[in-house]
Amino acid sequence: MADLDEFGLTDEQKLIRRNVAELMARALPVEEVRRLDAASAFPHAGFEALAEAGYMALPFDPAYGGMGGSRKDLVVLVEALARHYSGASSLYLPTVVYGGMHLQLSGGEHLRRRYIPEICRGKLKAAFALSEPDTGSDASGIKTRAVRDGNGWRLSGQKLYISAAHVADYLVVVAKTDAEARHKGVTLFWVDAHSTGVSMKPLETLGRRTTHPNEIFFDGVFVPDDHVIGAENRGWSGLMKGLNLERLCLAAQACGNMHFAIEYAKAFALDRRQFGQPISKFQAIQHKFADMRVLLRTTQALTWRIADMLDADLDPVEETAIAKIQGTDGEFRCAHLAMEIMGGAGYTMAHDIQRLFRDVRVGSIGGGTNDIQRNTIAKSMGL
Ligand SMILES: Cc1cc2nc3c(=O)[nH]c(=O)nc-3n(C[C@H](O)[C@H](O)[C@H](O)COP(=O)(O)OP(=O)(O)OC[C@H]3O[C@@H](n4cnc5c(N)ncnc54)[C@H](O)[C@@H]3O)c2cc1C
Repeated sequence: MADLDEFGLTDEQKLIRRNVAELMARALPVEEVRRLDAASAFPHAGFEALAEAGYMALPFDPAYGGMGGSRKDLVVLVEALARHYSGASSLYLPTVVYGGMHLQLSGGEHLRRRYIPEICRGKLKAAFALSEPDTGSDASGIKTRAVRDGNGWRLSGQKLYISAAHVADYLVVVAKTDAEARHKGVTLFWVDAHSTGVSMKPLETLGRRTTHPNEIFFDGVFVPDDHVIGAENRGWSGLMKGLNLERLCLAAQACGNMHFAIEYAKAFALDRRQFGQPISKFQAIQHKFADMRVLLRTTQALTWRIADMLDADLDPVEETAIAKIQGTDGEFRCAHLAMEIMGGAGYTMAHDIQRLFRDVRVGSIGGGTNDIQRNTIAKSMGL
């Protein structure tokens, strides 16, 4: 009988799980992940393996070379990636979801036909540039400006914390085309990351080192008219759609991270002996595992149900906010409990739990802080 971990998954989704686990074990073995993390180096081998196996194409429309996968397929894939290594989902999401899905959801036919096939073949990497030094949560207050120049636009401003932008070929840049307006002055641009006037600096962070964030400067960067995603001053609703999918993927990623914490700590607890028996025999240790399992299963159930809602063409917004909070708070709690179970060993750099602990700490901050998600929930409750 299928348990909660499998119930409702199609045979293809079960296959995605198995296949991704094998693929990642080959492309990004444990020792290599440790080396890349220490060097803050992008896991190119993981990206290439996923591209070769066709996973870059998963959520895109077959009309543009995609596989036409469902949102449920996507969350199953993202969970499987993070279950191997949190950075395996972080290397996938900027290109496919934070970047590419904006083209799919809001881009014109010209942009979709020209760029989505390249993303599907793994020939193009992307990143998503919204946050700025003076505006993070207050997204409609961004200062990056685009002003008309002949048959295009000139982009000027600064973005901050942009994940994996240093390896990106194209950037989704959120800018103001009407400086006086707030939401109604926002436009999305598809910008060649190697254009004249674009420069970047890496940021050093506690975790997420293999897809580290960057500071980006735009100094009068020319963007042709046909590289506007959607319509001038009408970018806000497309931006919200993209961020909504990002939040669901962050919850799916959290499920993978919780699996990792549980599996890593379980192997340790079965082996480590105190008072003449494995520490897994102590009820205090068993309860920590049970708490982790509760967090994983509740987040999984929520994530899959919301993916089903998206697949039914509904527009769950409060729901993705709930899943994002549940998932990111849950993954941090699991990383903490795994470290508790491992005692001193968990705190040393010799074990991978410290890396997970560092990587998941950003969960409640990135993708719209959990306070901002609470604002969304409160608003939908009529408060
Ligand atoms: C590792 C990392 C990767 C990232 N990747 C990207 C990326 O790829 N692209 C991108 O565009 N951005 C990215 N970000 C930025 C991230 O989305 C922002 O950090 C986040 O939205 C918060 O903005 P802020 O840091 O400016 O904090 P602020 O908005 O200044 O918030 C500071 C504190 O005030 C609280 N607060 C602010 N406003 C309210 C309010 N109205 N109600 C209640 N509390 C409030 C916040 O919850 C927070 O606790 C990344 C950040 C990190 C750390």
